[in-house]
Amino acid sequence: MTNLLNFNQKQLADYFISIGEKPFRAKQLMRWVYHYGVTDLDQMTDIAKVLREKLGNETSFNLPEVQLEQASDDGTRKWLIGANNQKDGTSSSVETVFIPEDDRGTLCISSQVGCALECTFCSTGRQGFNRNLTVSEIIGQLWIANQSLRKVDGYDMLAPTDRIISNVVMMGMGEPLANYDNVVSAMQIMLDDHGYGLSRRRVTLSTSGLVPQMDRLKEDCPVALAVSLHAPNDALRDVIVPINKKYPIKELMAACERYLVKAPRDFVTFEYVMLDGVNDTVEHAHQLLDVVKNVPCKFNLIPFNPFPNSGYGTSTPNHIRVFRDILMNAGYVVTVRKTRGEDIDAACGQLAGKVLDKTNRSSKFIPIEVM
Ligand code: SAH
Ligand code: SF4
Repeated sequence: MTNLLNFNQKQLADYFISIGEKPFRAKQLMRWVYHYGVTDLDQMTDIAKVLREKLGNETSFNLPEVQLEQASDDGTRKWLIGANNQKDGTSSSVETVFIPEDDRGTLCISSQVGCALECTFCSTGRQGFNRNLTVSEIIGQLWIANQSLRKVDGYDMLAPTDRIISNVVMMGMGEPLANYDNVVSAMQIMLDDHGYGLSRRRVTLSTSGLVPQMDRLKEDCPVALAVSLHAPNDALRDVIVPINKKYPIKELMAACERYLVKAPRDFVTFEYVMLDGVNDTVEHAHQLLDVVKNVPCKFNLIPFNPFPNSGYGTSTPNHIRVFRDILMNAGYVVTVRKTRGEDIDAACGQLAGKVLDKTNRSSKFIPIEVM
């Protein structure tokens, strides 16, 4: 069975051509699935019955399984999404988080089961890597969240095409640029007028800094870019974001400059996790200003979200304030991320899911599970 949720519009059109149908069927089908949330072929009344029968025999709309849905007191919601390893049948899961704000609703989407990049302060990284998510598992998170939010009081009166989710951030579990093809196809569905129709400014991809893929992304799907910088010099970044040994800060900054030539926004957002006594001093703030001086940017300071046996602490509010003020006084826009959904472990960096580590790295650590 061909899972039609694995295709962007171009691939879906190619599929229809391959079965002797007109390519515009792709747009029709996408509108049913993504605008109206319909995956039952019988309801797709503008598609001829013969074709629906053919599709019924040869294709599926295979969505990932929702293992658990939780709601926080502050309106944040979290879904635990099953991502079984088809080959050996082992069971893993990833997480998706919805964060409502006054002027927007943001969905934080996962791209991999675990992550191979081993950032030392990240609970996903600590669990090791299992596998890449498929396109249907990535876009399926948006489909599932969208459908489920429509049943929540207050949203239940909306028309099918009204947006509850106005923004998407690829900031859940995994390194999105390490699952390049699937993430790009899924983002193309997000941006497609026949898909979710989100503007490129409202889809943000966060990367730890995979330079060659950043260069490809600016050509293939130039969404808003967030870069996990976290340290203002190579000696420190080599330790806390080890991919830095391959793509050091200078190369990363040059890639950011190249990205901005094509980007829908005229700035990069630098994410900076505030680790007590590690990267949060006055000196670090001044080094940071020097490092980013050629890149138009904003800063997002993220108070470290602790998890068991992390070995790190959160910077004190005073240190965060001093650090923020140094950047602000130099003329930058700085946000300090508020922690949302703490009661359901939905905060940034706390998304642990359940990863069966193929590299056996997690055996070195106490297993971290949120459930
Ligand atoms: N792999 C991508 C996207 C996923 S992580 C990346 O690294 O950018 C999303 C953000 O959460 C990144 O900036 C990441 O560094 C940060 N993060 C990870 N663990 C964290 C923690 N325990 N506390 C606060 N932020 C964390
Ligand atoms: Fe992977 Fe991002 Fe976590 Fe680093 S911070 S281990 S890149 S998910």
